[in-house]
This record gives sequence, structure tokens and C-alpha cells, in this order.
Amino acid sequence: LPRSTGLGRLATVPRTGRVPVGVASRRQRIVVTGGAGFVGSHLVDKLIARGDDVIVIDNFFTGRKNNLVHLFGNPRFELIRHDVVEPILLEVDEIYHLACPASPVHYKYNPVKTIMTNVMGTLNMLGLAKRIGARFLLTSTSEVYGDPLEHPQKETYWGNVNPIGERSCYDEGKRTAETLAMDYHRGAGVEVRIARIFNTYGPRMCLDDGRVVSNFVAQAIRKQPLTVYGDGKQTRSFQYVSDLVNGLVALMESEHVGPFNLGNPGEFTMLELAEVVKETIDSSATIEYRPNTADDPHMRKPDIQKAKELLNWEPKVPLREGLPLMVNDFRNRILNEDEGKGM
Ligand code: NAD
Ligand code: UDP
Ligand code: UDP
Repeated sequence: LPRSTGLGRLATVPRTGRVPVGVASRRQRIVVTGGAGFVGSHLVDKLIARGDDVIVIDNFFTGRKNNLVHLFGNPRFELIRHDVVEPILLEVDEIYHLACPASPVHYKYNPVKTIMTNVMGTLNMLGLAKRIGARFLLTSTSEVYGDPLEHPQKETYWGNVNPIGERSCYDEGKRTAETLAMDYHRGAGVEVRIARIFNTYGPRMCLDDGRVVSNFVAQAIRKQPLTVYGDGKQTRSFQYVSDLVNGLVALMESEHVGPFNLGNPGEFTMLELAEVVKETIDSSATIEYRPNTADDPHMRKPDIQKAKELLNWEPKVPLREGLPLMVNDFRNRILNEDEGKGM
């Protein structure tokens, strides 16, 4: 089994995470699986900035070293190329489990691998958490609600998911991951936390991952038409990445298992999103309609009352403020790409 090189300590040492009031806080050892990806790399930045030791586990399927290159050489940071479908031995206090492609284009590319990542990968990370007594946070998704018949979606809603469709590898994979987390919690006493993340955007999203925000922003910068799938009247609720990262950390540090919806309740049709992208980047951008993908959910909007009350968390960045914050990053990367330095 691969072993962590830097920070390993005895497996029997109790987790140091919860520091009693009045005791100086000790820095924690934290694993972030999928830490080279979009959300993971922002989470790692926050944990490093507050003084923790962070180990990233990533197989670089959709993640990039470039998202973490600014941390190379930092003695509190360690990067392990590893596939979570395989077991691993490490000694840490907390596990943020993000490893899984998030864009429909990426997760449909190899659906069997996607479901293996969600099931075997989550099982391995839960087995690790059980052995070392670490707290474990699962990044689940609003996709567990499928094409929802309840709107907005509350955590109590069980969802409307097609078990045999093209999106099932992801939706059912995440639903199974939630089940595994709850079974390890009930059966083995693992401290688990479950976040159901709604559509999130920001700097470091893959340029060509096919998600709507990254597509529209890249298309507007490249002076290409914005591709609206279907009639463009389907809705999503878009959350800026810093809000999500704050929510994940608040959840990990809380005493609540969840699940918790983490998303921005601001709801937009794809045509409205296209308008905001036009206002932000290029008012002359045009729209091109394309056929929609199979099983596309018609609407999506989180009810975040539970997270507000129990985690004291709510998103702060509305779409019109968040979108400009990713444009510079996209412009630079598209420019580098054009100059043959694709990043
Ligand atoms: P991403 O694709 O940018 O990041 C996923 C990371 O996991 C990548 O670095 C990838 O290389 C890594 N990975 C994938 N399979 C792996 C494997 N088998 N072993 C090790 N590493 C592996 O996606 P993201 O947007 O940063 O999403 C992070 C997590 O949040 C995912 O679990 C995703 O399902 C969840 N989520 C994201 C959103 C969103 O809108 N971004 C919404 C709901 C849920
Ligand atoms: N596991 C791991 N690292 C550990 C402990 C467990 O990767 O430190 C994996 C282990 O290989 C197994 C999974 O987690 O595939 C579930 O472990 P658990 O101990 O719950 O089950 P068991 O090994 O008894 O089937
Ligand atoms: N979509 C679109 N144009 C694009 C990419 C996506 O209109 O270029 C639509 C897609 O059909 C879906 C919505 O945008 O209705 C959100 O898609 P995304 O892949 O970003 O996320 P998810 O479907 O997982 O919510």
C-alpha cells in the first residue's frame, strides 16, 4: 500500500481535531481527496492559509498540478498521485472527500469508472477514517434529487432519479456514497459530514469541461456564440466557490452530520445566465441553440434554511459579483492556450 511520506504518525493516536475551549489550538493534519480539482484546490488554499498540514490525493483525471503549483515547496503541503479506488494508509485528523469528476461531460466519459470512484473510493476513505478515527466529509451533490418534483429542494426530499440513465453513474454513485457514509456512521461510529453541493463556479474550473458557466464564459471570451441547450428555460442556482469552501469548513467543524444543502438560492434560467454573461463580458455575444442532453433536470434551487440555522452559513456572493471574479482567470488561461502554453 502507498504510504504518506511526510506526516505519518501512529494509527492509535486519537484525532487532535476538536480542541477543548481554552486550550491553544493545534494544527491539524487534513487529507483532501480531489484536491487538484476546481473546488478542492480552493479548499486546500483555505486550510493551508489557516495553518493546517494538508495532504492532497488526486489521480489528475480532471485536476491539474497548476491549481496547486503555488503551494509546491510549502512544507505543510504534500501531493500524492493516487486513485481513491485503491486503498491507502495515512494518519490524519480529517478527510475531505472530493475525488470524483463533477462535470457531466467528464463523469459520462467513463461511467463505470465514475461509479467505482464513488463507491470504492468512498468506501476506502471511510475505511481509512474508521481505522484512524478521523472525521470524514463527503461532497455529495444536488444531483441526488434528480429531476426534482419538489421545488426548492429540502434535505428531507428523497429525489427523483433515473437509475438506468446516462447521469446515473454520478447520481446513483453519490447516493450510494451517502448511504455508505451513514452506514459507517451508524455501524462503526465514524464521524461523518454530508454536504449536498449545488452548481458552483469560479476561477480554476476546467476550461472545456462542458458545464454551463465555464462554457458560456469561455465562449464569450473567445467571441463564440453561447450554446444554450434545449429551450434554455431550465433553471440552476449558481454558487461562487468561496461561499462553498466556507460552507464545507463550517460543516466539518460543526457537530452536525447533515446532509446539508450548500448552494446559492438565486435561481436563473440558462437564458438569464447567458444575459448575465453578456453583461459581464461582451454585450454583442450571440446565442446558439443546441439539443438538450438526456435526463436534464428541469429546475434546481436549494432550500438552505437548515445550513443557515445549524451552521450559521449562507452564501455571500451573488452571480453578478461572482462572475467577474472568474473572468480574469479564464482570460489568462485562454490567452496562454492561444499562445501554445495551454494550462
Ligand atoms: P473537479 O473535476 O474539478 O475535481 C475533482 C477532482 O477529483 C479532480 O482533481 C480529479 O482529478 C480528482 N479525481 C477524480 N477521480 C479520482 C479518483 N478516482 N482518484 C483520485 N482523484 C480523482 O470537480 P469539482 O467541481 O472540484 O468537484 C469536487 C467535488 O464536489 C466532486 O466530488 C463533485 O461531485 C462535488 N460537486 C461539485 C459541484 C460543482 O458544481 N462544482 C456540484 C456538486 C458536487
Ligand atoms: N482502507 C484503506 N485505508 C485504511 C483502512 C481501510 O484504504 O487505512 C480500505 C480497505 O482496504 C477496505 C475499505 O477501506 O477496502 C473498507 O475498510 P473496512 O476496514 O471498513 O472494511 P474491511 O477491510 O474490513 O472490509
Ligand atoms: N447547458 C447549456 N449550455 C451549455 C452547457 C450546459 O445550456 O453549454 C445547460 C444544461 O443542459 C443544463 C444546465 O446548463 O440544463 C446546467 O448544466 P451543467 O452541465 O453546468 O450542470 P448540471 O446539469 O450538472 O447541473
